[in-house]
This record gives sequence, C-alpha cells and structure tokens, in this order.
Amino acid sequence: MLIDTHAHLYYGSFQPDLDQVIRRAKDANLKAIINIGTDLESSKKSIELESSQIQLYSSIGIHPHEATQYSKSRQMSSDRGSNVQLEQIYTRDPEKVVAVGECGLDYFFNDAIASTSASLSINSAWQSQVKKLQRQLFLDQINLAKKLNLPLIIHCRDSWADIFLPELQGTTGVFHSFTATETEAKKALDLGYYLGLSCIVTYPKNEHLRQIIKWAPLNRLLTETDCPFLPPQTQRGQRNEPANITEVIKVIARMKSLSEDQITQAVWQNTTQLFRLPTNPAS
Ligand SMILES: [Zn+2]
Repeated sequence: MLIDTHAHLYYGSFQPDLDQVIRRAKDANLKAIINIGTDLESSKKSIELESSQIQLYSSIGIHPHEATQYSKSRQMSSDRGSNVQLEQIYTRDPEKVVAVGECGLDYFFNDAIASTSASLSINSAWQSQVKKLQRQLFLDQINLAKKLNLPLIIHCRDSWADIFLPELQGTTGVFHSFTATETEAKKALDLGYYLGLSCIVTYPKNEHLRQIIKWAPLNRLLTETDCPFLPPQTQRGQRNEPANITEVIKVIARMKSLSEDQITQAVWQNTTQLFRLPTNPAS
C-alpha cells in the first residue's frame, strides 16, 4: 500500500486527464493521496477533490510565497484573517483534513527578485520585510496546527538557518521534499519530524540525499511526489504524477538494502501514524 503524501492534483495541468492519473496511481498500488493546499483557494480545492478509486485527503495551508498578500488581510482584521478562513475550510470536512501546510519559509524567491532590481539597499530592506511576513504567516499556521491538533507540512527553501522556531516544540510533521544536508536532517529528526522524500532522490546529483536515506531511521521517512513538479530522473521535463512514488520506494529500498515490499510497508505505517489515517482504507 503506497501513499503520496504531497500532491497538487487540483492544478490545471491535471484537469484534462485526472481520472487516468488516479487510475495509474491505483494500478501502481497507491491507496491514498494527500493533496496540499498552498493558499485559501487551493486548500478549498484540495478538500473538494473526490475519487471513487482512491482515498483522497487534504491539507489546509498558505505557502510562504503568499506572505505579502496575506499580511494585508491580517492587518485589516483583528482575528488573524487567513487563520480564521483556513479554520473555516477545515470545518467543512474535518475528517478529510489531515495536516496544516504547506507553510514555512522560502528565501529563494527573495533572491530571485533581488537579482532583478537595481538598488541593493532597498532590496535588503525589502527582503527582511518579506522574511518577517513569512515568519508571521508560518507562526500563525503553527498555532493553527496546535489548535486543531494536526501535523505540519513544512516547506523550507534556502531558509534552514531560520526554520527551527522555538514555537515548533511540541508539534509534529514533515519537512516536505527534503533537500538539505545531514545537519538539518538531524535537527528535523531531533524535533520529532519526518523527512519527506520526493522523486528528486533519483537525480544523479543528489547522492548526498541518498546517503541521508541510508542512515536516517526508516520509521521517519515518508514518500511524496509534489506533482506536477519534480518528476523522477526518467521523466525529466514532464509532468510528475502520484504513480511515480514507486521510483522513490526503489531508491529507499536500494539504500536500505531491503525489499521494496518492506519499504512500502514501513512507509505506510509511518504515514498512517503521522497523519492518523486508518491503517486499512476501504477500496
Ligand atoms: Zn508542494
């Protein structure tokens, strides 16, 4: 029983053939897919996705890229605007919502903007402002996760120095599409978090990630695609989809010197435990 813990099946690129995408996932032995919200609208869409073939779960969350936009609604309301709205989405179908996120910090975006602008000093002031807003948005969602007693799905890009906020103590969750080094992996594990492994573990340049897989405890690994992004090496440049989770399983099996069945079973157990899913889903 395989599971994709991080998909964005509500994307337009899946609209023409979503049925076939889900069919291929089912044929590849997937039992469940968690669709991940990145703002209010996609959190709603995630919750609304239905399938008779496979169990679909969802998260509710706001991506750090949206920080500037959501800070406006926060200032205008006394009730932490986006958090209240996320909670409203949650109450529509609490059974289906298994996590808060993806939330976190993403400083890559800042650098991309910075390089296009003329004035460095304005940029660094702007960057620190955006970082502050991202931190606030992240803190809001940490609080929401605590309130709803849900795990967090953390997005962290070029922001490892700032991501381990003291407020994370007492929460649990996953660092999704983990790409950092052994040092950060250890910190995440020490915090009680899981490492989300995506198809980028198949890329030749990512030997360091495969080495992390080798030593990291098997009971703290999760599998994800982040589709439509991050296709496996054999499909570079194409749309990714949940069926490709098998590629991640193969790499884990190789690095752990265990069978794919053993890895599949372990990852299923980890996933159902973290997200508190039924261990034996219907279908
Ligand atoms: Zn994602």
